[in-house]
Amino acid sequence: MARAVSLVAIAAALAGAAWVATRTGTTPAAVAPASAPQIVARDVAGGPSRSTRRRAGRHRLEAGIVWHRSRATGLPYAGRLVGGVRLPREGVHFFTWDPVLHRSPDRPWRRYGTDRLVRTLLAVIDAYAAAHPHAPRVGIGDLSRPHGGDFGPEFGGIGHASHQNGLDADVYYPRLDRRERAPRRVSQIHHQLAQDLVDRFVRAGAQIVFVGPSTGLHGPAGVVQVLVHHDDHLHVRLPRA
Ligand SMILES: [Zn+2]
Repeated sequence: MARAVSLVAIAAALAGAAWVATRTGTTPAAVAPASAPQIVARDVAGGPSRSTRRRAGRHRLEAGIVWHRSRATGLPYAGRLVGGVRLPREGVHFFTWDPVLHRSPDRPWRRYGTDRLVRTLLAVIDAYAAAHPHAPRVGIGDLSRPHGGDFGPEFGGIGHASHQNGLDADVYYPRLDRRERAPRRVSQIHHQLAQDLVDRFVRAGAQIVFVGPSTGLHGPAGVVQVLVHHDDHLHVRLPRA
């Protein structure tokens, strides 16, 4: 019973907080009773739109990243991650995609990288979004596990041979239909936007960008390499610092 009462109190407090936040200039005296009719009035009067609130929430997720100095040890195929940074489940210009459960967001323990990898992903995707303001958000898949190490099939799907020391990330090609999910066929890929993402990761200093054999994506020899199982996503690897 006590719990029920406190939940009501919390709900009332939250309703009041929303009222205050969306009515700048309202005097505190006018704010006091946060009854249902007032909340309806606020909506009619026009608070922040749903898309504005959603964008603010995504900003908060990015601002809430807990940054550490990270260290990649060993090799991408046999290594560990020390002080990994977790990528948020989504951001202003990206969503995350779980390649095993085929849904967004990707599970938290699959989203750890070095601080440099996470910063590079955000910087490349922010610049890409600025250049293509009408493009859909970019899908980011698996990075590494919280402390790196084996990320093979025992963690679902076909697993990853690499992704072991926080320097690798999978990035899904943008879809022509703008849906926020992995493409299932190369015919669904927005080729021009996908090539631009490849180019941007190359310019950002990628050591390797793997692309699928059916995608037709290309880049500097030795950096952009064709590899099976990459027809729906590119795989970017940063060099050891
Ligand atoms: Zn990969």
